[in-house]
Amino acid sequence: MSRGERENRADRLASLLGEPGLDGLLVSDPVNLRYLTGFTGTSGVAVVGLEQRAFITDFRYVDQAEQQVQGFERIRGKQDLLGDAAERLSGRIGFDDANVSVRTHARLQELVGEGVSLVPAGGLVETLRAVKDPDEIQAVREAAEMADDVYEHLCGQGLVGRTEREVAGELEAFMRERGAEGPSFPTIVAGGAHGALPHASPRLEPIESGTLVIVDLGCLLDGYCSDCTRTFATGPLEEEVAGVYELVLAAQRAALEAVRAGVPAAAVDAVARSLIADAGHGERFGHGLGHGVGLEIHESPRVSSTSDDELAAGNVVTVEPGVYVSGAFGVRIEDLVVVTDDGCEILSGFTKELVTVE
Ligand code: ZN
Ligand code: ZN
Repeated sequence: MSRGERENRADRLASLLGEPGLDGLLVSDPVNLRYLTGFTGTSGVAVVGLEQRAFITDFRYVDQAEQQVQGFERIRGKQDLLGDAAERLSGRIGFDDANVSVRTHARLQELVGEGVSLVPAGGLVETLRAVKDPDEIQAVREAAEMADDVYEHLCGQGLVGRTEREVAGELEAFMRERGAEGPSFPTIVAGGAHGALPHASPRLEPIESGTLVIVDLGCLLDGYCSDCTRTFATGPLEEEVAGVYELVLAAQRAALEAVRAGVPAAAVDAVARSLIADAGHGERFGHGLGHGVGLEIHESPRVSSTSDDELAAGNVVTVEPGVYVSGAFGVRIEDLVVVTDDGCEILSGFTKELVTVE
């Protein structure tokens, strides 16, 4: 992360304060703090005003902050970080109402007294985070490339007769050996009828032959997440099952074609959804098409039929239609993409043709 880009983030945040009429924003969510300041510790708060850039941490993190946090006045908190922050607040101060508890809010109000008004202002940093800068895109790209390697590795390891849990654990161990901090979310391995549950957690059941297995995984690398789903065959499939695979693949490719800056996210969802519905499986695609990915596995923008978000260049989103046939099988195919002015760059490189792994 270049120093310039990080300072630029705080400047961009400051430029958003005018519209809600804020004099400053109190940032306490650890992910937002990391994004703005580079600080990866667990105890810190920042105050960003039009001119002010203050970062406060306690004695345990002073050295770490010195190394990581640039462009902010670094303050060693006395004991209560909120108290130290409160001394630096004046006017109308936004706070993250999605992440600050009622109790913390009451305490903060007590500390700042009458002169400061606390205004709910959740989502401002998240809005910035939705548009990635080049360093962030590179970090996600590397995490996505590692996920490709995990799928290659899986093909060499086999599926039939191993339990879902064993496979999931082994894939996560492989990521760590390759240098990932870990999976970006708990790995999903779901065979046969279990694959009909979109958020299935791996069971101690052996994987059968002649069915489909959904594998949904991501790597956490340098703080950034990847997310990719592939559905494998474990032997020859019934025609109907293979047909559903081809349908989901066609819907996924059509949706990718529709991704572009300036397009409503809901319109991209509709492209995949209408193809699946026209084939008679509309009721079997029960989740949104995708979501933003970055420091967190689910972040802005939302890509679903109810989303109000419009895609912007620099968004990193998933495109992941699925069809779930209750009691029988499921198919999901998911790529991670960067939205560009004239389309998208697909970061997931592993093949989407149906691969048989026995
Ligand atoms: Zn996924
Ligand atoms: Zn996803």
